[in-house]
Amino acid sequence: MYRTHNCGELRLADEGKEVTLSGWVQVGRDFGALTFVDLRDRYGITQLVFDSEDNASLCTQARKLGREFVITAKGLVRERTNKNPNRSTGDIEIMVRDMSILNSSKVPPFTIEEETDGGDDLRMKYRYLDLRRGPLQRNIIFRSKLALETRKFLDAQNFVEVETPFLIKSTPEGARDFVVPSRMNPGEFYALPQSPQTFKQILMVGGFDRYFQIVKCFRDEDLRADRQPEFTQIDCEMAFVTQAEVLATFEGLARHLFQHTIGVTLPDFPHMTYDEALRRYGSDKPDVRFDMELIDLNAVAQNKGFAIFDQAELVVGICVKGQAEYTRKQLDALTEWVKRPQIGAKGLVYVKCNADGSYKSSVDKFYHQDDLAAWAQLTGAEAGDLILVLSGEEEKTRKQMGDLRLEVARNLGLMTPGVFKPLWVVDFPLLEWDEDAGRFHAMHHPFTSPKREDVQRMLTGDHETMKALRADAYDLVINGVEIGGGSIRIHDRELQERNFKLLGFTPEDAEDQFGFLMGAFEYGAPPHGGIAFGFDRLCAVINGQNSIRDFIAFPKNNQGRDMMIDAPSPVAPEQLVELHLALTGKKEK
Ligand code: ASP
Repeated sequence: MYRTHNCGELRLADEGKEVTLSGWVQVGRDFGALTFVDLRDRYGITQLVFDSEDNASLCTQARKLGREFVITAKGLVRERTNKNPNRSTGDIEIMVRDMSILNSSKVPPFTIEEETDGGDDLRMKYRYLDLRRGPLQRNIIFRSKLALETRKFLDAQNFVEVETPFLIKSTPEGARDFVVPSRMNPGEFYALPQSPQTFKQILMVGGFDRYFQIVKCFRDEDLRADRQPEFTQIDCEMAFVTQAEVLATFEGLARHLFQHTIGVTLPDFPHMTYDEALRRYGSDKPDVRFDMELIDLNAVAQNKGFAIFDQAELVVGICVKGQAEYTRKQLDALTEWVKRPQIGAKGLVYVKCNADGSYKSSVDKFYHQDDLAAWAQLTGAEAGDLILVLSGEEEKTRKQMGDLRLEVARNLGLMTPGVFKPLWVVDFPLLEWDEDAGRFHAMHHPFTSPKREDVQRMLTGDHETMKALRADAYDLVINGVEIGGGSIRIHDRELQERNFKLLGFTPEDAEDQFGFLMGAFEYGAPPHGGIAFGFDRLCAVINGQNSIRDFIAFPKNNQGRDMMIDAPSPVAPEQLVELHLALTGKKEK
């Protein structure tokens, strides 16, 4: 009754067919005798024609159609005189003989086309309208395909999809938990999982050998741009594996997903240690689509009378190829950029390597041409290149330079769309010392194993030894974005107890929170390890986009609000009483 075809499938070969289409009115155009209407559904747009000489009353009706009216139209497919090569149905149109309006529509608050004029909050409030737009439709359909390909690949590798509970006990994984009061257990709360971490480990003890789940995770974090309080992971765990086997398996998954969604064959997945990533790129998730590696300049820049460099723990530079022509204005803008509080550098030094072999720098007062030639040699700068230099405390300065490197690359368009450069970052520190709290934090999470060669040192070593322990942990990074992270886990009660102790748990607290896991380790826990991928982020990265929000059907805004249903919201006082969160409600009996 509603349709014989969809709005994206009719071609010249269908000429002469009698068809029925249903969809939304994208736009109408009135040319006197003829009225044209673009009819849209998920599959495409087809042009309808109404001829007033043929059927005057139908044409009058068509002229009154508003944007987003829902209609059914019946008519004959015919060749268009004025073809539209940008549309798959652009060779044909439908001469409408009969039409019915299935529903009218108010004028939508923003345009429902490829590009929209709607602001973020408006688009989220009317999400059902935004979801009608081509880009969102394609993103959400892409997401469905990515989930399907994930299942296909993992199923073929013997992974079993298991659901784990959403109402669990609070676990420390770095973020704050969302808590849910228990009506039946006064004063007690469930927590929503930050990830299924302990459950997937228990599944390994339970003999499942290979587990995965495409699963919602919940983290009550202060929302930075493009974070969502609920997000999706491809969560995985394997028993009887080494790090190398885990990495090989999930390199396979990443390859499969890129190949079977966008037809891209990923290049090699090099391995880089955490230390090396920081040293060479100033980041533990380096974008290696371009060079501009960090080069230490202490040896050539210090002891020449420039106090700022002399007092610095680190003087570090990057060579920006072919940019000696950077203007004063551009350099000032970069200097302002590194001085922003988010970056926090004090200033920026530059050296221009002129075409004639001479150098022009912002520190010419302190350095001779020979000195600057030495900087150029170390950084690999040639005539026509620009050297940018920062100095200060080592760790901070490396990070600042890493950020500057990205900013310069952005400005120069070096982040080539369609180019994908994956790498594994490995050998993270196990523990981070928190000076203020006077205790260690787990860099990954408390269940991560130290590298095998560090186990004995962890059990017996002193405080300084603990700082140097390496974790059997790894991150998959693509184009500077952390796509996934995981580790080989501790599967031994004694080592897990030791870890909790280092993390500042009393034995009672550890038992209270994780007794179930350590108990399970006493019943033949196999060695195991795993990984979790950020599914929303993966969708965005494969599509070369920055925002995960457009890959989530119903996202929250920066304040963590769902603008459409208006959540969070207050609950009735009597609900609070029932949940033991208030003593008296409005409707007291
Ligand atoms: N549960 C970890 C996370 O959410 C991933 C893992 O270690 O497998 O980051």
